[in-house]
Amino acid sequence: MRIDKFLVSQNICTRKEAQKLVRKGLVKIDGEIIKKPETKLDPNVNKVTVDGKDISYQEYVYIIMNKPKGYISASNDKNAETVVDLVPKEMKRKNLFPAGRLDKDTTGMLIITDDGDFAHRMLSPKKHVEKVYKATLDGEVTDEMVENFRKGISFYDGTLCLSAKLLPNKENPHIARVIIREGKYHQVKKMFLTQGLTVRDLHREQIGMLKLPKDLAPGECRFMQEDEKRNIF
Ligand code: URA
Repeated sequence: MRIDKFLVSQNICTRKEAQKLVRKGLVKIDGEIIKKPETKLDPNVNKVTVDGKDISYQEYVYIIMNKPKGYISASNDKNAETVVDLVPKEMKRKNLFPAGRLDKDTTGMLIITDDGDFAHRMLSPKKHVEKVYKATLDGEVTDEMVENFRKGISFYDGTLCLSAKLLPNKENPHIARVIIREGKYHQVKKMFLTQGLTVRDLHREQIGMLKLPKDLAPGECRFMQEDEKRNIF
């Protein structure tokens, strides 16, 4: 990879700024000043410094977001604001996308990344990564519904869902937690519809063992730490 492209990929600066930094002699590869922006390096092998500061190479980024209502789970859209639009400029990378979709009116935990393998592992039903939702409903959850979720809901079009956990809230029968291991389109809302209930509010609280951090306000995001990444699987 060219050094100017590398600096852009690591969010250090723009391509033009990178070329300036290199020409000014502020960039070193393995301790040697380089003057040509087209100089090649292997980011996994070579050490880069800019103005004396080490640049630690990150191949991919992993961002945890508290999705607010009103944003669509996509990278870009002509007509609507997307969750990637919410990522601050200094955290942006070229190929960011949301790993899994939350509906426009669903809130809560969303992972945004440029690592396709990571997203695939997180979303594949075979990997059994649990997603925990808090649903506010227009009616009360019954024991029969809990059993139906356990057995596996069948949508009106015949689509079968894997066994899911439905955990009623003891204090408020209109609130329940749902734990699913897959991500079909509008899954939680459709599961409740088969039981005659409408979801008024849906919030994702947890993916795998990772809970949505309490200090992350709606619309905020931050880079995930290594141990948080490991908690997903
Ligand atoms: N299930 C839904 O119905 N909507 C979501 O946004 C997520 C899961």
